[in-house]
Amino acid sequence: MFRSNDEMVDDLVARGVLRTPEIIAAFRAVDRARFVPPALRSQAYEDYALPVAAGQTISQPLIVAAMTEALEARSGDRVLDVGTGTGYQAALLSEIVGKRGRVFGVERLKELLDYASQRLIRYKNVDLRLGDGSLGWKEKAPFDRVVIAAAAPRLPQPVVEQTKVGGVIVAPVEGMLWLELAVFRKTSKGFDRKALMPVVFVPLVGEHGYRE
Ligand code: SAH
Repeated sequence: MFRSNDEMVDDLVARGVLRTPEIIAAFRAVDRARFVPPALRSQAYEDYALPVAAGQTISQPLIVAAMTEALEARSGDRVLDVGTGTGYQAALLSEIVGKRGRVFGVERLKELLDYASQRLIRYKNVDLRLGDGSLGWKEKAPFDRVVIAAAAPRLPQPVVEQTKVGGVIVAPVEGMLWLELAVFRKTSKGFDRKALMPVVFVPLVGEHGYRE
């Protein structure tokens, strides 16, 4: 049982999942309980996913931590957050990229976009949009970093195009046997792919994801 956000973060640090000082600071600054539905608040710091609205989930802290570390976002970066959901990941990224950076969140369900908007009011460097994030966000491209919180058969091509060469994309995609959390680094020829761990995620529903 973790009683506070700090206890949750201490555990992720002790397990070696959170390692980078700026990322640890962001996890301390953003209270996960603010992003969990009020009825589930007593479980806000436990290391598992929780249901939110419309059959969606707020990801397990361990997975959010692993994705954020793998993304290697830095102060000043422009980051695309596909599947903004509750806005928890967007808030963490907002802290990491700081005033000189910007976070662009795309969510396909209006109910969740409204939920995230309310919770992200204080984060002035975050822009949100309702839409199909498998198409990226062309007007705001190019991005230094992209994080996708819903599983796709493969990396959506528009997202690859909107990422800078040398940029990093973290996404759950189909592997040989199961879904895997993968880290892609865009190169001048395509991208390098590295598998992080097997995962469970809701589907990316969209033109370059799964059909409804
Ligand atoms: N990052 C979120 C996790 C949300 S779960 C958080 O921190 O809470 C994944 C989200 O992806 C869901 O809200 C789902 O509605 C959304 N989603 C699924 N397909 C999408 C698409 N094509 N474009 C944008 N959002 C999508």
